[in-house]
Amino acid sequence: KNVGKISLEQIDSVRKSFPLCMRQLHQALRENHHLRHGGRMQYGLFLKGIGISLEQALQFWRSEFIRGKVDADKFDKAYAYGIRHMYGKEGKRADYTPYSCMKVILSNPPSQGDHHGCPFRHSDPELLKQKLQFYKVSPSSITQILELVKGMHFQLACQKYFEVTHNVEDSSFSLSHPNQYFIESQKVLGG
Ligand code: SF4
Repeated sequence: KNVGKISLEQIDSVRKSFPLCMRQLHQALRENHHLRHGGRMQYGLFLKGIGISLEQALQFWRSEFIRGKVDADKFDKAYAYGIRHMYGKEGKRADYTPYSCMKVILSNPPSQGDHHGCPFRHSDPELLKQKLQFYKVSPSSITQILELVKGMHFQLACQKYFEVTHNVEDSSFSLSHPNQYFIESQKVLGG
């Protein structure tokens, strides 16, 4: 039963509303058919937050993972538990909430082979610049964003990225959460 706001089929079409941290997780998952634990947690909880149900989440991760090195049996044994856990169906049955920007920025920094974290905080400036160019951010906006990053204003840098990619001059919110980014984006893009 779909109780969520966003269905599985819509993930690719709403990804314009994903903040950069989630876009890079989505892309890495699609390319590698795998994400390590930190990435599964950060992205999985974000998807839960935008309304993906447990059944949809299991289907989503399974269909992607079995395209890679993991077969269906291994997926069910090694990964399904973690996803049900995220939805509070295993272990101590806590209902886990999606990570805030502060949590992403301050805890569990990504190492080699990880795709989680905040690109404004954890990508080196040259790589961040390439990512911004990929999303067609203008050179002058890139300069502004990198200045904010240099000053350690990571969320402001992300908000600037929001403004330039959504053609809004001055956004009326103060960014503190990837799911908030998504909601604000859907408002602008008319989702
Ligand atoms: Fe994601 Fe927040 Fe970083 Fe933006 S500032 S990329 S929403 S963690």
